Amino acid sequence: MRTLKDEIIAMIRLEGPITVERYMDLCLGHPALGYYITRDPFGKDGDFITAPEISQMFGELIGVWAVQAWRDMGSPAPVRLIELGPGRGTLMADCLRAIMASAPDMTAALEVHLVETSPVLRARQQQTLGDAGVAVIWHDEITAPLKGPVIILANEFMDALPLQQFLATQTGWHERLVGLDDDGALMFGVSAEPTPDDIGEAEPGDVMEIPRAAQRLVRYLAEHIVVHGGVALLIDYGAFAEGRTDTLQAVKHHRFVDPLAEPGEADLTTQVNFERLAMTAALANASVHGPSAQGAFLQSLGLDYRAEALKTRATSAQRFEIDAAVTRLTAMTERGMGDLFKVMAFSHPSLKALHGLHLASSPDHHQTDEET
Ligand code: SAH
Repeated sequence: MRTLKDEIIAMIRLEGPITVERYMDLCLGHPALGYYITRDPFGKDGDFITAPEISQMFGELIGVWAVQAWRDMGSPAPVRLIELGPGRGTLMADCLRAIMASAPDMTAALEVHLVETSPVLRARQQQTLGDAGVAVIWHDEITAPLKGPVIILANEFMDALPLQQFLATQTGWHERLVGLDDDGALMFGVSAEPTPDDIGEAEPGDVMEIPRAAQRLVRYLAEHIVVHGGVALLIDYGAFAEGRTDTLQAVKHHRFVDPLAEPGEADLTTQVNFERLAMTAALANASVHGPSAQGAFLQSLGLDYRAEALKTRATSAQRFEIDAAVTRLTAMTERGMGDLFKVMAFSHPSLKALHGLHLASSPDHHQTDEET
């Protein structure tokens, strides 16, 4: 069978080297052979595990957060709850359970929309959410579900969007490419000509990552929110401030692998640059909240209380699991997610406080204060 690797090699022979951005796009989203298109990658037997798959508490706390955000928005009805890249649908299922248990008024106002390109994961989401008790509508395109006031959730979504990489040499910034070595194998290289754009000061050896797709998405969402009201919550592996290093990584069966070794067979991600995304949202006149470390965020939403409540009804094996999940979600160590993962929101400028996040920047001109 023809693999994605064969296809990419043939493409480079025909057209010359491709950008890292195009390479990521092909690996993750190739319509027939892309990583997400062909599999369910989650869990112990898969390639990696995400926070909602570690514990139901994660999605439940996001549900509690969403209820508070909706009340802060002035309880608009209807309101669209939109999730980008919902994986197995676990976060949304846990989130909806928490909303239904605590906020019948919000439940009545809710319209649930999921954005998912993978047919395999869409089928999985349909299974998970079949008995959620709320109608769910699926979309391929991120822009499709935007209408009226929105609450947007994205966990480990931004890190899967392709980005551009530039390497600084003595002659300036050169875009990083994927080409072929003398034996016809995939290899990294750079464009011959420096990039004509002024993208910042270049210290030879620095790598600059420009997440064009993520920035475009944030700008689009922020522009909608500033006019129609709402909030977007982004949770991802990433850094508060921009680094000048290559963060592209590939993971297969819970281990790091060479990103060029098996295109389409390993998960490819980069660290999310929250500083850039915050600037993009602020430029569109949205208020920015956080970023905050995931551990601190979950704890301020009451993770420890939720764990204690679950433990009162649990067997001793389950109590052990609940404690292990709390540790995994909040630990500040290399294996823990507490510090490596960050949480950031952007909102309509009228939202001055969001549960668990501090206000980082708010537009000082309020000509768009027309909350619906
Ligand atoms: N949020 C889930 C899954 C994260 S993995 C969790 O936390 O478990 C990334 C998800 O985004 C997958 O569901 C993948 O199929 C989806 N995805 C990746 N690129 C996408 C795109 N361009 N548009 C829509 N969905 C995409």
